[in-house]
Amino acid sequence: MAYVITDSCVACGTCQTVCPAGAISEGDIYKIDPDVCLDCGACAGECPSGAIEPGE
Ligand code: SF4
Repeated sequence: MAYVITDSCVACGTCQTVCPAGAISEGDIYKIDPDVCLDCGACAGECPSGAIEPGE
């Protein structure tokens, strides 16, 4: 199950630099491609806003 980025995202880009799969793309808020995400959780631990959560 892919992780998801919530509205708490402040578009700092920290998650994109730590994702080993390159699953995170830039935007008004950042977005995780669920087809590419490995469900590793690396991004969630690094997000300063706590905006990344495990998907349901
Ligand atoms: Fe990338 Fe891992 Fe976050 Fe998925 S859970 S977006 S693979 S860092």
